[in-house]
Amino acid sequence: MTLRIGQGWDRHRLVPGRPCILGGVDFPGCPVGPLGHSDGDAVCHAVTDAVLGAVGGGDIGRLFPDTDPRWEGADSVDLLVRAWAPVRGQGFRVVNLDVTVICEQPAIAPRAAAMAARLAEALETETGRINIKATRGEGLGPEGRGECVTAQAVVLLEKP
Ligand code: MG
Repeated sequence: MTLRIGQGWDRHRLVPGRPCILGGVDFPGCPVGPLGHSDGDAVCHAVTDAVLGAVGGGDIGRLFPDTDPRWEGADSVDLLVRAWAPVRGQGFRVVNLDVTVICEQPAIAPRAAAMAARLAEALETETGRINIKATRGEGLGPEGRGECVTAQAVVLLEKP
């Protein structure tokens, strides 16, 4: 059996008037949303980089450059699905995925289960293998000032 671990990190500025989508889940009441060439979903981007890192697959920017108009406004769950397909094709499956989201808003906890369900579907695994944690910046740094959302992800993959 082969085990591979990968980690991912992403940060997007939070601005008024942008749809707020994180982990593929919509937060319709949130007054700010992540700015990005795609939908700015920092959670999906961190998870994508973790998966790519685990298999030595480079990074999300190499696969989906922000200079390419094809990915403008892209659904980042779709980007994750596209990145996952060849990894699954190599015979890997998810052992577990652990995600930390750092932001002042939106409140992540009420939708953490929905996020895990979206990510589980994208990665063709069960929600029980995915953990979503959230914390706040306590007034410190750009997260604490509410300027951005940061996401960290660690994934363990196995190939029987
Ligand atoms: Mg990003």
